[in-house]
Amino acid sequence: MAVVSVASSQEVLDVLGTPPGSWPRADRLPPRDRQDFLAARQLGVALASYATGRTWVAADLRQSCPTCGGTDHGRPSLGDLSVSWSHAAGVVAAVVGEGVAAAVDVQPLADVSAVADVLPEELLGPGGDPVSSWVRREALVKLGLLSLDRAIALTEDEVDGRDDTTSACWVDLPTGTCVAVVLRPSSQRVDSSLETIDTERLRAALSAVH
Ligand SMILES: [Zn+2]
Repeated sequence: MAVVSVASSQEVLDVLGTPPGSWPRADRLPPRDRQDFLAARQLGVALASYATGRTWVAADLRQSCPTCGGTDHGRPSLGDLSVSWSHAAGVVAAVVGEGVAAAVDVQPLADVSAVADVLPEELLGPGGDPVSSWVRREALVKLGLLSLDRAIALTEDEVDGRDDTTSACWVDLPTGTCVAVVLRPSSQRVDSSLETIDTERLRAALSAVH
């Protein structure tokens, strides 16, 4: 089971508030990046509270880097829950997986020409959409299944043909973005194991938890 939400960072902070405590890494960022940083974490813990029915706070988040072992960056988690977030241009997406590893990526649709420079038509095939392909590849990288170098060298069939994961990819019209979620293992079909939650439902669920 996994739950996902996509919203503007401003909306997340308006609805869920700013995470309490000090965030020295966020304080070193430009204002808009700071807002995305805080909103991503706040959305992640809100989804975890929604999914489990118990209260999680941003201070419960742990991060672990698979490359250097650092704990101030890298893959996030909350207890036994898998957590992933992504932000781009003031939009944040988060996913929480219970019993599955989950990763999310979000990219503005307006980035199509920049992404097309990285993913040429030879890889995508005729009519292939660069942005939707990019977010699916990025989500696989975040799950630790591909290196970034490998991710930008695969054909579309190689991205879609994996049997160790299930993925969902859609356009989120209100935020003008494309979103991909990848879950592992692939024992459940994504459409029955992935729930998308808007911020109003999240607010209602959280007021019941608290
Ligand atoms: Zn590292």
